Amino acid sequence: MVEFSLDLNEEQRELRDWVHGFAAEVVRPAAAEWDEREETPWPVLQEAAKIGLYGFEFLANAWADPSGLSMCLANEELFWGDAGIAMSIMGTSLAVAAIFGNGDPEQLAEWVPQCFGTESDPAVAAFCSTEPEAGSDVAAMRTRAVYDEAADEWVLNGQKAFATNGGIAAVHVVTASVDPSLGSRGQAAFVVPPGTAGLHSTRKLKKLGLRASHTADVFLDDVRLPSSCLLGGRERLEERLARARSGERTGGQASMRTFELSRPTVGAQALGIARAAYEYALDYAKQRVQFGRPIIENQGIAFALADMKMEIDAARLLVWRAAWMGRNNRPFTAGEGSMSKLKAGEVAVDVTSKAVQILGGAGFTREHPVERWYRDAKIYTIFEGTSEIQRLVIARAISGLPLR
Ligand SMILES: Cc1cc2nc3c(=O)[nH]c(=O)nc-3n(C[C@H](O)[C@H](O)[C@H](O)COP(=O)(O)OP(=O)(O)OC[C@H]3O[C@@H](n4cnc5c(N)ncnc54)[C@H](O)[C@@H]3O)c2cc1C
Repeated sequence: MVEFSLDLNEEQRELRDWVHGFAAEVVRPAAAEWDEREETPWPVLQEAAKIGLYGFEFLANAWADPSGLSMCLANEELFWGDAGIAMSIMGTSLAVAAIFGNGDPEQLAEWVPQCFGTESDPAVAAFCSTEPEAGSDVAAMRTRAVYDEAADEWVLNGQKAFATNGGIAAVHVVTASVDPSLGSRGQAAFVVPPGTAGLHSTRKLKKLGLRASHTADVFLDDVRLPSSCLLGGRERLEERLARARSGERTGGQASMRTFELSRPTVGAQALGIARAAYEYALDYAKQRVQFGRPIIENQGIAFALADMKMEIDAARLLVWRAAWMGRNNRPFTAGEGSMSKLKAGEVAVDVTSKAVQILGGAGFTREHPVERWYRDAKIYTIFEGTSEIQRLVIARAISGLPLR
């Protein structure tokens, strides 16, 4: 157990400043272009891979920080640079986290390097869980995985929706139901290796924000996978299913904990966008003169900026608390992971909206980045569990009731 401290240690400060440097020098200057192009920024990914910011070693080091803060620090800085590009860099970590969390050591060694590709030829990975009929309601998943005993293969059929890097990924990690009668507890995760027949994606979705990040539906038509592609292996799956059938509650709680663990990182991403918008609006308000004085000299503007700063700092404290709790195995008795993502997501939406307002007409144009931050922030009340679902998790945790 590590004592909680708000003093970052030297290693954490170095990491934060290093990622900030990359965000300021490489990511931010490229942001408008890739947002307009609505394409995965492969050259930026290559740059990130070259300096070691894109790859498993980076993630493993950040995850290893016993305070839990390193992933938050890195994400806040990178998303401060630009959320669309940062999502292209960090999107792979969703799939990697699923392999890391569910796979055995051989699976980790085989698939994680393929998720990232090489320094000169980086690849991306996708985590495909959401379906057209199963968004917030994960238990409604229809994608089926059926074991073909004779061939020792799994056969997957179904459709996935809104997958980050879906269709362009080298490795897709796909969740599927192996026993629909068990709802979310009858689901398992599979690796779909590069070039597997039957996995295809039709079109890239056009989006409000995060445009440099590829989002697409993914179709699975008789996708045949060797049994080694079931993350965690058959024996562990059978044990888990047997526990679920006997009514034991441990599995469900474990998967809830996995979600809660990833939420502070997502909250930190939202914070990065909010901070970018706040800093820009503060500078603008000091320079823009109306009625013979800088607009910040109006309390209406100054107080808005004070609130923006306060809300960002409050959200960061929730994010850091949840990250520390997760890393140090503290039980989330009040849905603290959800609290952190909920607060940070809603702060990002509010702060970016206020930033547009502070810039006035200029804020509404593409001459300034605040309109992009305003568009990018909105996803943080939607993906990785909507704000409503986060409130449901918190409400269930504090009430002990199975609220729906
Ligand atoms: C850019 C982007 C990237 C994404 N990346 C991925 C990815 O990589 N992998 C992946 O698997 N998914 C991904 N998603 C999917 C994302 O996680 C889902 O969109 C999200 O979980 C919400 O599901 P839904 O869109 O089906 O909304 P729905 O579940 O249909 O919800 C619609 C509305 O109803 C509300 N609602 C639903 N149930 C309740 C309830 N019980 N109480 C109160 N309100 C409720 C919701 O909060 C929401 O406001 C991505 C989505 C986007 C847009």
